[in-house]
Amino acid sequence: MARITIDDVTKRFGGDNNSVVAVDDVSLEIDDGEFVVFVGPSGSGKSTLMRMVAGLETQTEGDITIGDTVVNQFGPRARDIAMVFQNYALYPNMTVQENMSFGLKMSTNMSASEIERNVTSTAEMMGIANLLDNKPGELSGGQQQRVALGRAIVRDPNVFLMDEPLSNLDAKLRTEMRTEINRLQNDLGVTTLYVTHDQTEAMTMGDRLVVLNYGELQQVGTPLECFYRPANRFVAGFIGSPSMNFFAGTARGGTLQCDGFGYDLSERMQESVGSYGDLELGIRPEDVALHDEAVDRNSFEVVIDVVEPMGSISYVYCRVADQESEDTFVVEVGGQRPISEEQTLYAHIPPEDVHLFDGA
Ligand code: ADP
Repeated sequence: MARITIDDVTKRFGGDNNSVVAVDDVSLEIDDGEFVVFVGPSGSGKSTLMRMVAGLETQTEGDITIGDTVVNQFGPRARDIAMVFQNYALYPNMTVQENMSFGLKMSTNMSASEIERNVTSTAEMMGIANLLDNKPGELSGGQQQRVALGRAIVRDPNVFLMDEPLSNLDAKLRTEMRTEINRLQNDLGVTTLYVTHDQTEAMTMGDRLVVLNYGELQQVGTPLECFYRPANRFVAGFIGSPSMNFFAGTARGGTLQCDGFGYDLSERMQESVGSYGDLELGIRPEDVALHDEAVDRNSFEVVIDVVEPMGSISYVYCRVADQESEDTFVVEVGGQRPISEEQTLYAHIPPEDVHLFDGA
């Protein structure tokens, strides 16, 4: 098991002038046994950062330490890590038993019977003991992913690296495997780095999230910290589904004038962002209330655009009645509440749930 330190690490790609900065001066400490999720949109540098920890890519600048050893000069084998990818990367001509044994045969002095014992017990733990004589082509996607995980686990590595391991599975299986990986990581206590672009996966897995955009670290924190106290506008918009609503406006003397409504900034808001200038007001769909009448000065009339029933909740897409643009924002309401597109309703944005960001 191992602690991982990433120290001022930068990776540039692109021929002689190295013009693509895939990872931009990232520093990060991952505790022994911690489960950390790298999350961000496609191209944000997640895989490159993980591949540098794996030794599959060499950083342009900075140091990577696993345990007490600076591993910059070490190839992947010397780092004692196990990787799981989305395409499983199983050997098609080998049986499950052979796939799971292969790494142990290559890198340990274990006897054949010891290897067999370890493979069998790991296969039992993963629920694939009945598949040991099958070849990967005879297995479903979910079973193949279990084999890939089993093959990583049986090696008993210092670190697990998982790069979008569930993205080829259907939604139901993905949810199941998500729970299973959480349980396994918890039971085994092996330091784990997990890459995903899926913010739902990020919210439900891992002790901490590392949010990346354009190769830059945006926030490091527990999923709830990133959700409730996003460090910036990017994290606020990326974490949470459906994503946060944003209203751009200009503040003058404590009132934020947005398109079609004014919002009174509380003292707390004015202390944090000032009372003048361009700002963006952020509010999550579940924090907006829809009333039949205006409840205070921070309520405004809305036109209902679309109601999307989801079962226990509905998403109501609204437009500010007096706004010039056609933009909509989304409000989450209880699924039993009848809302029709002809209704006149007032949205209320409670000050305690508002997030404010500097405007562009
Ligand atoms: P993510 O995993 O978040 O999708 P990547 O780490 O794969 O992002 O990529 C980050 C950036 O680096 C992207 O702009 C990508 O095009 C670029 N990149 C990644 N690998 C290479 C490579 N081998 N050569 C050139 N550019 C690369």
